[in-house]
Amino acid sequence: MKAYSILAIVGLSLLISCSGNKTEPKQSNADFLAANIDTGIAPGTDFFLYANNGWFKKNPIPGSEGSNGLWQLIQDTINAQVRDICERSSQDKQSGKGSAKQKIGDLYFSGMDSTGINTAGLTPIRTELDQLGSVNDPTSLAAGVALVHMNSGAPLFDFYVGQDDKISSKHAVFLRQGGLGLPDRSFYLESDERSKSIRSDYVRYLQDMLSVIGYDSLRSKGLAADILALETKLAKASRSIEDTRDPQRNYNKMPLARFEKEVSAFNWNTFLSGIGLRQPDTVIIGQPEFFSACNKLIRETAMPVWGAYLQVHFIRGLAPYLDDNTYSRHFRFYSTTMRGITEMKPRWKRVVDQTNGSLGELIGQVYVTEYLPKGTKEKLLQIGEAANRWSMSYMIGKFGKPVDRTEWDMYPQTYNAYYNPSNNEIVVPGCNIIVPGYERVMADDAILYSIIGGSTFGHEITHGFDDQGAQYDANGNLSNWWTREDSIRFAARTQRVVEQYNQYRVVDSLHINGEMTLGENIADIGGILMGYEAFRKTEQYTSGKSIAGLSPDKRFFLGYALAWMINTREELLVERVRSDVHSPPQFRVNGPLANMKAFHQTFGIKPGDAMFRPDSLLVEIW
Ligand SMILES: [Zn+2]
Repeated sequence: MKAYSILAIVGLSLLISCSGNKTEPKQSNADFLAANIDTGIAPGTDFFLYANNGWFKKNPIPGSEGSNGLWQLIQDTINAQVRDICERSSQDKQSGKGSAKQKIGDLYFSGMDSTGINTAGLTPIRTELDQLGSVNDPTSLAAGVALVHMNSGAPLFDFYVGQDDKISSKHAVFLRQGGLGLPDRSFYLESDERSKSIRSDYVRYLQDMLSVIGYDSLRSKGLAADILALETKLAKASRSIEDTRDPQRNYNKMPLARFEKEVSAFNWNTFLSGIGLRQPDTVIIGQPEFFSACNKLIRETAMPVWGAYLQVHFIRGLAPYLDDNTYSRHFRFYSTTMRGITEMKPRWKRVVDQTNGSLGELIGQVYVTEYLPKGTKEKLLQIGEAANRWSMSYMIGKFGKPVDRTEWDMYPQTYNAYYNPSNNEIVVPGCNIIVPGYERVMADDAILYSIIGGSTFGHEITHGFDDQGAQYDANGNLSNWWTREDSIRFAARTQRVVEQYNQYRVVDSLHINGEMTLGENIADIGGILMGYEAFRKTEQYTSGKSIAGLSPDKRFFLGYALAWMINTREELLVERVRSDVHSPPQFRVNGPLANMKAFHQTFGIKPGDAMFRPDSLLVEIW
């Protein structure tokens, strides 16, 4: 999706159902906020840990998860509900053929049919693998790239149809840098020990996948090295994430004819018809120098290497649906090496997790399954492929049609939110009202105003005025509407935020990248201030009444820490710090609070404490 302008508050989205029976919450009668405090940690040293470590100690990260916390509490509820729906649907003999229930039931049944899936192996995708393996000229290469884009991944470059940043009422075709198998260019280019060891594991994974596909061991070894070399060249030609955040520099509109001439080694006509898009007059190129590099790379790389590269990208997106042999090799690299996860989730959870991130989407749009031919054993694989194909076709179908500003990119049951500068709009799905730990009793205003007011609404509103959002005018168009002086003063204030977050060390010597996370950090800082201002108008605040021995102010700041109560494995933290524009949860709490005088006063934070920042450094942007 439009990754740089749709700024979701968190890197992943979870689904929860707004109605129905909830599972028994894991809580005693004690107040959840009070129970989570670790009194062994001073609030001025690390407020995130002070507020949450009590819970972390009682709830270690399960072997099958990269993290544990607030989101998993919600996910447990969802999983239990979804599993219940699935099991009841698969046993339901009353529902007619073609009904949603029958389809969900069939999907679940074939998902659980590991014998059938394991016997089938790669047979269900053999035709596609063979087509990709026989790529031998620019036309078959372009057809292969289109095939993978439509079904499972994004090889060579990223492509999407979305709102034109400079004409927000129109859709445009965007082409951006991409095509990597590792989460960010830095994984290919850095020379620290951790990166080197990830790269050697990655080569082993590529080799493994190629032998599963059917190459002999010598050939697999050679091709794995060739693919790493190819992706490293793509990485070198890519901008760093912070450099992709400037909306002006990453918007280069040009006539398609001119672009085709400049990147002539690739057959764009074949690609566009392969994905079912009629020829646009113009395209918006994110990073022109990346495509110049692609042009050169296509000419100088042997076609069989491209074929193997496409095969691996094709399998990667479908791995969770495939047989255990293929999936376990995928898991060993992407979950164990990259994220420190050692235990595989049960198959049904994988299916729920992977089908576009949501079985909710499938349930909501069961007609996806209309794409499927009859047959049972391979249905799961086909649904996995069909879901991708459906969402690509839906997106491509928007091209040429006017923008529907009432359309949302999230479902009501999605526990997340986003700001879209092209529409000057915030989308906060209804389920954000749910606060784990307070399922039975409505949480008090201190909690609601910090989580929903601060970390959600306040955060998203601030995106309209962060370093990117501020560049879009009242009509949602990317245009320079500031004076020179405005820009200079804005940059000076945001520079303080960059410097503050650059100082935060996450794992070993790895620090937060203050430039890359700037927009999210501004939104966090602005969000909590807004939530706090709103909270000061509530009865709870003015009455000053304590709950469970905690003053309204204390509850507000502890509530804010609860919003980010997520304990993350070191490996996953490293991946996120290098590829996610959001700071890790610990610093989404400590960073903004360190800038708030009201917080310092409430918890007696003093000069010399880690959570203290003197007046001269306090960040105040708006
Ligand atoms: Zn955000």
